Amino acid sequence: LDQLDFSKGDGLLPVQGLLPVIVQHARSGKVLMQGYANREALEHSLQTGAVTFFSRSKNRLWTKGESSGHTLKLYNMTADCDRDSILALALPQGPTCHTGSETCWFDTDANSPSLSFIDDLEQVIHSRYGADPSTSYTASLFAKGVKRIAQKVGEEGVETALAATVGDKEELKNEAADLLYHLLVLLRSQDMALDDVVQVLKQRHK
Ligand code: AMP
Ligand code: ZN
Ligand code: ZN
Ligand code: ZN
Repeated sequence: LDQLDFSKGDGLLPVQGLLPVIVQHARSGKVLMQGYANREALEHSLQTGAVTFFSRSKNRLWTKGESSGHTLKLYNMTADCDRDSILALALPQGPTCHTGSETCWFDTDANSPSLSFIDDLEQVIHSRYGADPSTSYTASLFAKGVKRIAQKVGEEGVETALAATVGDKEELKNEAADLLYHLLVLLRSQDMALDDVVQVLKQRHK
């Protein structure tokens, strides 16, 4: 906090004493919203773990979600090269935009880094847990249980390997998609997510 440069601003934005804070989804990388923070707001974010801004319209500290309950759980926060802008990684507890949209730039291809789709897909899979098996293939997999899901992962793994072996790239893409989808379902059935696997890979990389 002591190294941040709050000095910039001359009546135009950014306002003196306020730094822009860009909030990014900690898993998907989607940009969720942007606000401003003074030192007190940053301290509040660090102390409470809930992203807090200085609202220029309310003219006071504003913890995102204070009335809606849609808070931003702080995951990590860092300053840029010249310490006059903040990047906050957070896990949103509900829609971030007051319009009810997931992000303030709406959920279009323009704000969807391609790998963020995995996070969207995991949420859809999660929402099918316990749903009527006759209405959804994913729900029917959950209903059949872990043995059937594990068997599908095995089958799709073999099909993926075969497609690569015979050099069929179209088939490889399709079978790899089947494998990834069924792996996400298998992980979900064990109360896990791809992020748990990614943490292992990151740990190994150190
Ligand atoms: P909340 O902080 O979510 O309880 O919302 C309180 C008020 O803050 C809303 O009525 C909006 O005026 C404003 N607000 C909420 N979310 C945003 C946002 N992402 N960007 C700008 N203003 C917001
Ligand atoms: Zn800068
Ligand atoms: Zn918004
Ligand atoms: Zn397949």
